[in-house]
Amino acid sequence: MHVSAIPAFDDNYIWAIQPYDGADAIIVDPGDDQPVREWLRHHDVGISAILITHHHWDHTQGLLPLLQDYPVAVYGPRTGNIEGISNPVGHGERFSLMGDMPFTVFATPGHTLDHICFYTPDHVFVGDTLFSAGCGRMFEGSPEQFYDSLQCLAELPDATSVYCAHEYTEANVKFALAVEPTNDALRQYADQVRALREHRLKTLPSTIGIEKAINPFLRAKSSEHFAELRRWKDQF
Ligand code: ZN
Ligand code: FE
Repeated sequence: MHVSAIPAFDDNYIWAIQPYDGADAIIVDPGDDQPVREWLRHHDVGISAILITHHHWDHTQGLLPLLQDYPVAVYGPRTGNIEGISNPVGHGERFSLMGDMPFTVFATPGHTLDHICFYTPDHVFVGDTLFSAGCGRMFEGSPEQFYDSLQCLAELPDATSVYCAHEYTEANVKFALAVEPTNDALRQYADQVRALREHRLKTLPSTIGIEKAINPFLRAKSSEHFAELRRWKDQF
């Protein structure tokens, strides 16, 4: 399996999943249709399906324009009221794409109440729930919900690649270092991230194993601890 990042807006990544090189792509969170169209043209492929993690415009605004030219199945949250979703899905549901690519849906309320993540073995698409060294802002959910959502992701195998929807890693690492200044894994990761960003390279995907070692929000011991970190980060 092949996963490509299509940069959009200032810091979004729209992910394109291909079972093999040259195959039509599954597009995750098309906030903008133009960069997706350019990527498809450049790779000379079409779209096989679209996945939507939550209702925010920077993840959905390109959906209806793309559907005009690519009338494909769209999997997204059952609860988000998002126009264009043909296959609403919820926690624990499974579906297959391109014949034999199995996906499992996890409900991960916190950033928004409708937020879901898509897991296919060795890869998880986490939208704005989990960022590298950080997590999404808590717009709609409670600390208890957000904490449980992150713990659910933490149970995935360590080697699982994590595809976040924003390049926020560098700023998140600064906060993480303030929380855990003596975490050696985090300090090494900070050096690696700084080097990548100096060359304007992407820091994603991360892995569940890395995030469990360096991400203060995944490392929170309780929902109270999570709430405290989230408040601190909001004014950091
Ligand atoms: Zn969002
Ligand atoms: Fe977003």
